[in-house]
Amino acid sequence: METAIPESRATDRKALVCQSCEKPEARVFLELGEVPTNSMVLLDTKEKAVSYPKGKLTLAFCESCGFIFNPDFDPALVDYSQSYESSQAFSPRFNEFAERLAKGLADEYDLADKTCVEIGCGGGDFLQQVELQGIKAGIGVDPAADPDHRVENSTTNLSFIREFFAEEHGNLNPDFLCCRHTLEHVPDPAAFVRTVRRSLGEESSVPVFFEVPDTLRVLKEAAFWDVYYEHCSYFTPESMAALFEQEGFTGVRTELDFDDQYLLLHCKPARSTSHADSSKSYVRDLSEDVEAFSEKYRAHIAGWSKFLADANDAGKRVVVWGGGSKGVAFVNSVPGGDLIDFIVDINPAKQSKFAAGTGHRIVGPDELRTAAPDVVLVMNPIYVDEISETLLGMGIHAEVRSV
Ligand SMILES: [Zn+2]
Repeated sequence: METAIPESRATDRKALVCQSCEKPEARVFLELGEVPTNSMVLLDTKEKAVSYPKGKLTLAFCESCGFIFNPDFDPALVDYSQSYESSQAFSPRFNEFAERLAKGLADEYDLADKTCVEIGCGGGDFLQQVELQGIKAGIGVDPAADPDHRVENSTTNLSFIREFFAEEHGNLNPDFLCCRHTLEHVPDPAAFVRTVRRSLGEESSVPVFFEVPDTLRVLKEAAFWDVYYEHCSYFTPESMAALFEQEGFTGVRTELDFDDQYLLLHCKPARSTSHADSSKSYVRDLSEDVEAFSEKYRAHIAGWSKFLADANDAGKRVVVWGGGSKGVAFVNSVPGGDLIDFIVDINPAKQSKFAAGTGHRIVGPDELRTAAPDVVLVMNPIYVDEISETLLGMGIHAEVRSV
């Protein structure tokens, strides 16, 4: 697949309506072209992978509230009935975080014998963590939930509703409401948070907890492999707090966790509906980060494109290690990504499949014995040592580089 270095648009900047503060003050700052509409999916054949539906990935920045979003996002291209839970659920480090988070929330909000509702619960893994804290009932609302799902070792009442969250779900009478890694998939977050607020009723004091990826890190590191089609809404601590205050929540507190990759927000419904338009002095700093991101992003992609071309000229075999969304986003974003021979992944479920978009084949490490690589590109620096050792153990002396 041919991709071009993304252009930043200095001209033709039409003001767009921000889907967070709803003011017409957002402008496009980066156009990334067409990308697969699902970066997690792996296909059975190369043909299916290459013809997988694509959508336009564009980034706009709101100069009023700092929200970043894809104005070209088309929800019709996304299958919300599929769970987007990443393979991270198999990572001990990720599970340790979820367990610690559930315990922290249970302690802070005294959840023993309470009813907890989770919006966008996916397979129910986190609800089960919360349940272990001794709650009365846990209810998950998610179009991808399985209503017949029975969680192993469940001691209390967990149930699942296979629907998009709506105002009527306030009838579930939650004592605590949480929503993790869902808001970044919602194209109209103001309307969504308003629905959540209305569902609780005017007199409510139910604690509310939301979690999304933090965008400030993505901007600072120009981590282009963390920008996907499915993620249409990007928040920083300040822009997310501003949205919840605007939609009738108070006591808003944000924090970063999981190596500062995740943004956590706690709040409660406000009784009055006074919309104090607080000063948004953070937006100026953020707009500088956005400008810098645009530059860094293009430099980063151009750099990797040149690296692949040079390696190809020198007759080197380059492979990517990591068949998750980062690896798939990488091969789809970098012009000349087709010069990468294949993607290696240790998960047998992914092997012999093909990455959406470019159609790269996913292979197990054993394949490297017959097709020894000269360069192995590692998608997450955490795994560089582990992968280097694996390669040496196989007698492969390749250059291991972290992206
Ligand atoms: Zn805005």
